[in-house]
Amino acid sequence: MSDFKFIIDGKPVDTTESFPVLNPATETVIAQCPKATIEDLNNAVAAAKKAFPPWSATPDSERARIVHAIAEALEAHSEELCQLLIAEQGKPMGGFAGLGAGFEMGGAVAWCHSTADLELPVEVIQDNEVARIEVHRKALGVVGSITPWNFPLMIAIWHTMPALRSGNTVVIKPSEYTPLTTLRAAQIINEIVPPGVFNIVTGDGALGAAMSAHPDINKIVFTGSTSTGKKVMRSASGNLKRLTLELGGNDAAIVLPDTDVASAAPKIFATAMINNGQTCAALKRLYVHEDIYDEMCDALAAIAKSVTTGDGSGEVDFGPVQNKTQFERVCQLAREAKDSGARFLSGGEAPDIPGYFFPVTIVADIDDSARLVSEEPFGPILPVLKFSDVEEALQRANNSSSGLGGSVWSSDVEAATALASRLECGTAWVNNHAMIQPDAPFGGVKESGFGVEFGRYGLEEYTSIQTLQVSKA
Ligand code: NAD
Repeated sequence: MSDFKFIIDGKPVDTTESFPVLNPATETVIAQCPKATIEDLNNAVAAAKKAFPPWSATPDSERARIVHAIAEALEAHSEELCQLLIAEQGKPMGGFAGLGAGFEMGGAVAWCHSTADLELPVEVIQDNEVARIEVHRKALGVVGSITPWNFPLMIAIWHTMPALRSGNTVVIKPSEYTPLTTLRAAQIINEIVPPGVFNIVTGDGALGAAMSAHPDINKIVFTGSTSTGKKVMRSASGNLKRLTLELGGNDAAIVLPDTDVASAAPKIFATAMINNGQTCAALKRLYVHEDIYDEMCDALAAIAKSVTTGDGSGEVDFGPVQNKTQFERVCQLAREAKDSGARFLSGGEAPDIPGYFFPVTIVADIDDSARLVSEEPFGPILPVLKFSDVEEALQRANNSSSGLGGSVWSSDVEAATALASRLECGTAWVNNHAMIQPDAPFGGVKESGFGVEFGRYGLEEYTSIQTLQVSKA
């Protein structure tokens, strides 16, 4: 028996199997989540397929109205959704720089509204005595969404609202670590959309794999690790599914010697530690010029020592790492860094208490070859690396198989912009990092994935082009 139910064709489904969902701050079970079978998945896809023709034929303005209505309904349930998010994900309501559960909730609502306002008008390529040629954007069919555990609510909205807005129907599978907020949001959404338009199934990677291979799913939008993204890509080939893959990142930042450390350090700290470092586009490798290296290390260490880590249900800056596997990975990367002789300016060791707590950790004098630098840690730990030559820093920043984001920091905005444009990544920031907004495309290059989300560019990815040519001659 489960405390929650998933929804297929607008109806809650009874299941026999379930799995526990833990609060990462206490390691206690907070709910049983229903476990979908392959038959449940097939039913969900069949419902979405059946709902597709009427939904895709629904007037555009009506779909826009419905997506706005979803935003309002989610907002009306903000408190309840935030409490679920805090309990299963671990993040505090406010948190450091106000980037906690309230921020995720607000982002989800804002992204809904912004997506509702997007349009994909018909483009006229030619209209003369020979022919009229128009380019139409057509919905793809059933979109499968597979989400991770770091921002379960916001990423679910990023995936599914453009799908609905452009006329597709949805089957979503949240992460098995954080399914509850998405389950509740799906109930709320199902009070607004017609049956079968928005289906949800819950389970682990095996269910995600079955979605990637499903012959009646036309597109997968996946956010998660690069290794899983590669598996999704392999199994999506059966029916040539369209794919958007938002994968891991290992974002570098280059801090030039003319940077004002006092004003940059708090921003750098906030963007490195956003969501306790469990953010795809968090700043993860900080390259600082030797002239200001010590000053920057001191400034970051002072902030790190001033923040609190604890149970997200309390007034803390940061919650726990979301799950045991991730927690152990962060501990291991820290141990290896220490063994390599790196200098720890704060944190470094997990306290011996229940919960997956790891203190905010700043690591100096570390080599690029350490795994903490060459791999994505995805936790509250930041390596600070020294450089003397800008070209060398650029080469080290680009020496990564990841290419999600990157940034350059300087008081000379022109020089910084020129350098930022040479970073091999999907988004390059100047004097900032990890700043995203609903109208600017966001996506990775290299092994951080392909395709973009957000704005018109993101919406187009939920459609295919139909060229309509009417001969007149
Ligand atoms: P993950 O790849 O382990 O899991 C993501 C989702 O995929 C989960 O729902 C999981 O059940 C499912 N899954 C697992 N195996 C599968 C398979 N074989 N086929 C299909 N689905 C499968 O990732 P995670 O640990 O939940 O998330 C952390 C990772 O996500 C980090 O690497 C992070 O950088 C990345 N991420 C990227 C972005 C972005 O926008 N680029 C955003 C957030 C997180």
